[in-house]
Amino acid sequence: MTTVLVCPSCKRHQLSLHLKSNLDSLQEANELSFSSRKRNEGRFPNFFQCSLCEIAVSELSISQSFIAQYEDALYSSPKEEAMAANSYWRLFKSDIAALSSKSSFLEIGCGAGFFIHKLLKHNFLHVLGLEPSSDALRSASAEVQPYVRHGNFPESLGDKESFDAVFIFQTLEHLRNPREVLEDVYSRLKSPGFLFVVAHDYLSWQNQMLGEKSPIYDIQHFQLFSQKGLKAIHEAAGFAVIKQGRIWNTYPLSYWLSLLPSQFPKSSVPKLIQKLPISLSVGNQYLVAKKS
Ligand SMILES: [Zn+2]
Repeated sequence: MTTVLVCPSCKRHQLSLHLKSNLDSLQEANELSFSSRKRNEGRFPNFFQCSLCEIAVSELSISQSFIAQYEDALYSSPKEEAMAANSYWRLFKSDIAALSSKSSFLEIGCGAGFFIHKLLKHNFLHVLGLEPSSDALRSASAEVQPYVRHGNFPESLGDKESFDAVFIFQTLEHLRNPREVLEDVYSRLKSPGFLFVVAHDYLSWQNQMLGEKSPIYDIQHFQLFSQKGLKAIHEAAGFAVIKQGRIWNTYPLSYWLSLLPSQFPKSSVPKLIQKLPISLSVGNQYLVAKKS
């Protein structure tokens, strides 16, 4: 069992402090993990950075007591997830449309299945979503239910299940062993096979400007990637990165307001205005990787 903090990509342990914790103790992280659905807790552990890969690693990624509390803690609201699925569909639709309608797709961490629904709507019928949160799956529509499965990757797959494309959206940060998971994804892909990823970019100008006020510094994130770091971990897992860039997310204004520090007077913004969809680049990135 790992007890020394290492870079999840290159596995070196020469990490330097990137952000100093504002938690009083790691015990506080355990208590907060129970209520992790609250937005912008503003509490974060120490993050250490690998200078080689530009990946920031949370000290909680090796805290056994925290990990035990953390199970089943991830789930955003269905409304936000639906908006995110729209953004991701727009981002990847031309790549997906180039694949055969017989292609088999897997989404790891599918939440309530909004992206799975997008694929079904566009006549991709060989789709499967895996989701560890039973709470999230309970929100899945009846249409999507037959295509989603409760469980973790890869444990909840049959030995012979393989895929033409895999999707991992805003999930890599939450995994304890992201490189090993990506290696498993690689082995579950057919040749050629594609992986579509969305993640935060902690070195984007937006996140650098916000510094420790950025909501990405959170007890739920075991690691954070820059663009260089996201590419590095995929290459370490055997992939060729064929596309990478920044993304725009569209959410109701109310969601963007919820990410702001608590001092901001959100109630001063009229409710009707808060419902408006707003597209912003908030320092998220995408990547498309290929298994040849
Ligand atoms: Zn590294």
